[in-house]
Amino acid sequence: MVGVVLIVWVLVSLIQPLSALDNDLEKSLPTLQQHPLPPTLVQWQDSEGVGDYFEKITLSPAGYLIWSKFPIKVYLDRPTNLNDPSASNRRFQQWVEAVTQAIGEWQVYLPIVEVKDPKLADIVIERSDPPLDTSFDPETGQLNIPRARAAQTRYDFYFTEDKPPLLLHRMTIKISPRLSQSSILSATRHELGHGLGIWGHSDQETDALYFSQVRNPPGISVRDINTLKKIYEQPTRLGWPLPEAIVSGELSRR
Ligand SMILES: [Zn+2]
Repeated sequence: MVGVVLIVWVLVSLIQPLSALDNDLEKSLPTLQQHPLPPTLVQWQDSEGVGDYFEKITLSPAGYLIWSKFPIKVYLDRPTNLNDPSASNRRFQQWVEAVTQAIGEWQVYLPIVEVKDPKLADIVIERSDPPLDTSFDPETGQLNIPRARAAQTRYDFYFTEDKPPLLLHRMTIKISPRLSQSSILSATRHELGHGLGIWGHSDQETDALYFSQVRNPPGISVRDINTLKKIYEQPTRLGWPLPEAIVSGELSRR
């Protein structure tokens, strides 16, 4: 599941009035540039020639959702009292184990480190139910209330306090506490794939980023990593500074 939230008003205000004016948008955001490929992905070679699903990846307003500062900092919810023997605390521990395992699986391909402060994290993994997005059906005049989702990933953008500011993104992943341990593992594996930049779905059920849940969830596949590598070879506006002209323009307007 994927969702999009743009929190930074600057970016929203830049994008919305300019949707018809691509040239202005070009000038208002960092220029699209490639980052060096992380060594773990440089080493990756598709020896099986199984291809990828790169064409299914959608672009964010800032380009491909690529991390450029490594290791990527991940925060996950953990129980506060380790000595609490209650069943609910045990379930929380199992959630942590499964999430940690999924992080470990992706760590093979991109450097990831756990941080204890969510404010310092690039990716925050919360133990909570994703919100229901209710929609109105104009034909039936009824509200569509979808089934509860098990997991969701969304992103938002912000600018750093550097001079000039860098455009960065942050990912928030929600993994339901109601899932079985094996479902927590497969859901986190899938959502972390989104969080690391695979913003789209595979149409093959042997890939971790397959669009639907399957009976026997696959591990991270060769096609998943082929796709990940191709994404990281693309240019992005993320991790690059805002153009000088915009920075000084912002200041003089205040
Ligand atoms: Zn998904």
